[in-house]
Amino acid sequence: MIENENIASVNLPDSDLVKKLQRTKTPVSINFELTARCNNNCRHCYINLPENNTDAESLELDINEIEDLADQAVNNGVLWCLLTGGEPLLRDDFSEIYLMLRRKGLLVSVFTNACLINETHVKLFKKYKPRELEVTVYGITEKTYEKVSGIKGSYKLFKNGLDRLLTNDIPVSLKAMAIHSNIHEIENIADFCSKHSKKKFKFDPFLHKRYDGDEKRNKKILSERLNKDEIVKIEQNNFARKNALIKSCDQLIFYQDIDASGRVFTCGVLKNGFEISYDGKLRLCPALLHPDYVYSLRIFSLMDAYRKIAENIIKARSYNEDFLNKCNKCKIINLCYFCPANSFLETGKLDTPIDTFCKNAHARQKAILEWKKSSSLS
Ligand code: SF4
Ligand code: SF4
Repeated sequence: MIENENIASVNLPDSDLVKKLQRTKTPVSINFELTARCNNNCRHCYINLPENNTDAESLELDINEIEDLADQAVNNGVLWCLLTGGEPLLRDDFSEIYLMLRRKGLLVSVFTNACLINETHVKLFKKYKPRELEVTVYGITEKTYEKVSGIKGSYKLFKNGLDRLLTNDIPVSLKAMAIHSNIHEIENIADFCSKHSKKKFKFDPFLHKRYDGDEKRNKKILSERLNKDEIVKIEQNNFARKNALIKSCDQLIFYQDIDASGRVFTCGVLKNGFEISYDGKLRLCPALLHPDYVYSLRIFSLMDAYRKIAENIIKARSYNEDFLNKCNKCKIINLCYFCPANSFLETGKLDTPIDTFCKNAHARQKAILEWKKSSSLS
């Protein structure tokens, strides 16, 4: 699954080329959520369905549909591609899909839990290196990993899969979700990831609610969410994260007045990329599930669906006074998990301020300003 950071899609390079392409306001990346099914059953997961869910499997895009969408994307300037899920390696045709996308010249990244990595994947990734291979580490002890993953024996599979990649010199980026079930181990997870990863360790404390609205699962997700003090504490304890927050303080906290004039979308959603669900629906942000912003690619072409969603995004206006007086003018929105997509998942509306998010953002603001002050004094 895509971990949030925030609602991260494929990590695009911070280059002039990408900035230039993004100014054209046409997506330069495409994410294929190859399946919603997963071999794990993580407590915090917003998407997973059981691996043997044949209904979900029967709705998945087949390789020909994926190829057709990839062609449309490439013809419209897309360069980067991310394969995610659920667990993308559950697909029997994963290798064929991966190779097909590589042959089109796309730079392909893969997000996986590593449990299903076998010799075929190793050979594939050795010969045709992915741009990124990102693995999420749910715990570095069997007890913690399996408390999160919900599957007995999954820790061993994860370790074996990761070892296969590392012993074959296939570079991986390791990352974590920080949740109640693994928070006691987060510093050890960070050390483990830093030791084995090609990239700086990153963790994400924000958990989406379920895409399918499953209330029982949502309760579990809420029980795993860190509170404001816990979020501040882990950010403070992680040297790189704390420094990055201090350094980017002036971009995270606005000092001038903000007036978004009632626009619902003030984020970079039109620059995010194409997100294609396992059952062939286009979204411009992975979590944006409001029906006005989801179009079936089994009915519309990629660019027709894109234009319809983009038009709806540009014209969306709020008449909710609470939102207009709070989030629409908020100087710390960049520190907040509020966004129209999350608002919809939390409340069923795109423009409802969320009390717990607000408290978290204010606690983070206070902490970052204090850290900045003491770092400039030292
Ligand atoms: S590994 Fe866990 S978080 Fe990732 S898709 Fe599977 S159940 Fe969800
Ligand atoms: S919920 Fe609060 S902190 Fe977040 S954007 Fe709205 S007003 Fe700002």
